[in-house]
Amino acid sequence: GSSQSALNFGAGPAKLPREVLNDVQYEFISYQNAGMSIIEMSHRSKEYITINKNAQDAIRKLLNVPSNYEVLFMQGGGCGAFAAVALNLINRTGTADYAVTGTWSGKAAKEATKYGKVNLLFPKADKPGSIPDQKTWNFDPNASYVYYCDNETVDGVEFPYVPNTNGVPIVCDMSSSIMTKTLDISKFGVIFGGAQKNIGPAGVVVVIIRKDLFGASHDCVVYVMEKVLQWIIKQGGVKAMQKQAEEKSGLLYKTISNSNSYYSCPIDENVRSRINIPFRVGGKSGNEKLEEKFLEEAEKLSMFQLKGHRSVGGIRASLYNAVSLDDVKSLVKFMEEFQKEHPH
Ligand code: PLP
Repeated sequence: GSSQSALNFGAGPAKLPREVLNDVQYEFISYQNAGMSIIEMSHRSKEYITINKNAQDAIRKLLNVPSNYEVLFMQGGGCGAFAAVALNLINRTGTADYAVTGTWSGKAAKEATKYGKVNLLFPKADKPGSIPDQKTWNFDPNASYVYYCDNETVDGVEFPYVPNTNGVPIVCDMSSSIMTKTLDISKFGVIFGGAQKNIGPAGVVVVIIRKDLFGASHDCVVYVMEKVLQWIIKQGGVKAMQKQAEEKSGLLYKTISNSNSYYSCPIDENVRSRINIPFRVGGKSGNEKLEEKFLEEAEKLSMFQLKGHRSVGGIRASLYNAVSLDDVKSLVKFMEEFQKEHPH
C-alpha cells in the first residue's frame, strides 16, 4: 500500500523521518504554495539560497561549529570526499597517517596511495573488530594529516574517543555517525559525511573544514537535508540523538548477549558501533541457513535491509537517527521469538 510501515534497518540510503517525508511530499509539488516544485527552481533563486543558508546554520548550531570552520555541501559521495581529502591535503608534506579499522578506512587509505605516501598507524587486521591502543600507533611526525573513520558502517566498529595526534590535523569520515554524538569540532581539521544515513537522502556530502586547510567548494541541492536537520533540532539536537543511539544499540547488544550465544557480535565491546550492529545467527561463526531464514521471517514482519554487507555476511542492523526505539523493540522481539522457534 502507500502507507509507510516498513521498518527500514538499511545501511544507507536509509530511513528518513516520517515528518520530513510528509513535508517533502507536498513541497515537491508546490514549494511554499509557489505552484512550482523546489526541484524545478533555480539554484540561484531566493528560495534555494535560503535553504542552503538554513542548512549551514542548522549544522553550525547542532555541532557548535566554530567560526574558523567552513561548512560545505559537496557531491561525489563519501568516496569522492575521501579522494578529495587526499587530493587536497596530502601534498602539504607528501605523506599521511591512516588508521585502518574496517572497510571504509581501508578504501580511503588505498585511494590516498595514488596521491602520496600512506603510513598505516597499525597493521591492517585480517578481521576488523578491535582498535589497537593509541599508545602503540606508529605516528609519522611529518604527516599532513591523520585519517580515521569514526564508525565503520560495514563492520560495526566505532571509535569511543577522538585520537590525540599532537597537533597534526585530524581528518575524520563520519558518514554513518555524524549527528549521532556531540563533538568538539576544534579537535578536527576536516570532518566529512555522506548525508544518506543520519541526515538526509543520497546526493550530498557535508564537509566541515578548518579554513586554513581550505580547497575549493561547490554548490549542490540540500533541500531534504535541511528538513532533516530542522527535525533533529526539534527532537532535542545531537544530544538527544546520542542518547537515543545509546538506548537503541544498548537494547540490541543486550539481546545478543542474553541469547546464550545464539546471536553473536564479533566486535570488541569497547569499540562496538552504536549505529551499525553486525551479528551472526546460530553460533559464533553463524549458520547461513538460519540467517537466510532469519531475513525471510523478518521481511514477513516488514523488517527490511537486515542482510550484512556481502564482504562480511551475517546480519547487520543499521540504527540511524530516524530509526526509533520502538523499531528496535520490534526487532528485538522478533529476535527473541525467532530464537525460540528455531533452536540450533
Ligand atoms: N564512508 C563510510 C563510513 C560509509 O559508510 C560509506 C558508504 O556506505 C562511504 C564512506 C562511501 O560513501 P558513498 O557510497 O557515498 O561514496
